[in-house]
Amino acid sequence: MSHVKSTQQQYIGGSWVEGAGQSIPTIDPATEHVIHDVASASEQQVNDAVAAAREALTRPEWAGLLPVQRAKLLFDIADLIESHAEELAQLETLDQGQPIGVARDVSVAGAANHFRYFAGFVTKIQGTTNPVSFPDTLHYTRREPVGVNALITPWNFPLMILAWKLAPALATGNTVVIKPSEVTPLTSIRLVELCEQAGVPAGVVNLVTGGGEVGAVLSSHPDVDHLSYTGSTATGKIITKASADSNLKRLTLELGGKAPSIITANADIDQAVAGNVGGALLNSGQVCAAYTRFYVDSRKHDEFVDKLAKAVTSMRAGAGKEEDAQLTPVVSEKHLQHVTRLIDAGRSEGELVTGGNRLDREGYFIEPTIFSGVTDDATIAREEIFGPVLSVMSYDGSDGLDEVIARANGSQYGLAASVWTRDIAESQRLADGIRSGAVFVNMLPIPDMAAPWGGYKQSGWGREMGPQALECYTETKAVWLHYGA
Ligand code: NAD
Repeated sequence: MSHVKSTQQQYIGGSWVEGAGQSIPTIDPATEHVIHDVASASEQQVNDAVAAAREALTRPEWAGLLPVQRAKLLFDIADLIESHAEELAQLETLDQGQPIGVARDVSVAGAANHFRYFAGFVTKIQGTTNPVSFPDTLHYTRREPVGVNALITPWNFPLMILAWKLAPALATGNTVVIKPSEVTPLTSIRLVELCEQAGVPAGVVNLVTGGGEVGAVLSSHPDVDHLSYTGSTATGKIITKASADSNLKRLTLELGGKAPSIITANADIDQAVAGNVGGALLNSGQVCAAYTRFYVDSRKHDEFVDKLAKAVTSMRAGAGKEEDAQLTPVVSEKHLQHVTRLIDAGRSEGELVTGGNRLDREGYFIEPTIFSGVTDDATIAREEIFGPVLSVMSYDGSDGLDEVIARANGSQYGLAASVWTRDIAESQRLADGIRSGAVFVNMLPIPDMAAPWGGYKQSGWGREMGPQALECYTETKAVWLHYGA
């Protein structure tokens, strides 16, 4: 099956060691069977990993690499991901549950693309010369690595989200301690093995596994300079407090979302239905940017709901490894209970159009569920569900777009939004008015390494991907040189 280490899952200072903490089983969500027991790192092991990262930061094998040499390492990691693409995709599907096509084309291809994109930046990380108003003074800036970085990731796209962080961190000469989600750690362990195979020097990439308590050691650690976190807003707030109470480490926070999708009277309804089924139900809705609050012009509401219900009920449920499966399980029993609790709340908040039940088979499968007639203050319209649950609302578009913009913005989140219309002016007015880090017009919410990604409001701080990601991993140093007499 997988080539992941069976017991030695911590990688500290260039050595694989057994976790000294409690064992946590990682489970195949399609069968509910244990794949591996993964022993967590102890607090001492986390401290050792941070110390190894600190030590490696200035060691000549890493700090002394020429930019072209560092770039080559990243290109080599990308090549290794590609030459192990099918193995990684199968492992991601086994552990996370996602459709194998998504694992191949989004998770694995996305990870390789990120390393290649940021490899290109290594030789282009530039400072500036600045016209300061001092006589005989040269002023310039240097971009330096921020130092030791903790990278904490969630369970929904573990391999790709780790690549979002690891590739720019290494491109800019940093060292890291990775802490994947305890729910889906396997592809992160495998990626670290590939980094070792590519020749990343000992101590530059370290890996510790385990749950929130292991992450908490990192977020309160006085010797971590920057922590890049992707996960829920609630945990993001705990991490922010831990950072403030320890050493005020820099934070990049990619948090929760509750993306609105606006379907105007000028939308092509068939295209909007197809796009929103994909945008809402990709990976069974376990996507931070998943479309989940639908605002439909009242003149198109009934047609949209009818066609949406027809489309979701024809989806084929199956384990991710089945090539034709469209609806795959949610990641865990705990998450199944979370989604079920919110569906139950929805029953009294709107009209259940279709779905609402767990499938009668092994695995954590939930029917695609649509509620209509939902109000903006309903729990299912406010809380992040992160599952196959869609809430449809209607708006009066006869008087312009102000009402729907205000309602779309009436959320604590601001990660992504979607707009469906054939009217260019309308699409631009909506893109202008919506307060979120990304607005997708007539398309699915799939990120790209060249496009900055991050949230407004409680969806986070900072931007990953694109040139903006380099800001998270560098400090700017200003050098003043007086050459006058
Ligand atoms: P989570 O908050 O439960 O856990 C995320 C990570 O944080 C895990 O590795 C976990 O072990 C760790 N953690 C838990 N408690 C911690 C603590 N006290 N200190 C430090 N680390 C701790 O999130 P999840 O359920 O794994 O992921 C789903 C969430 O991730 C959703 O809210 C989703 O929107 C969000 N997400 C956001 C993006 C984005 O780009 N903004 C992308 C993917 C997922």
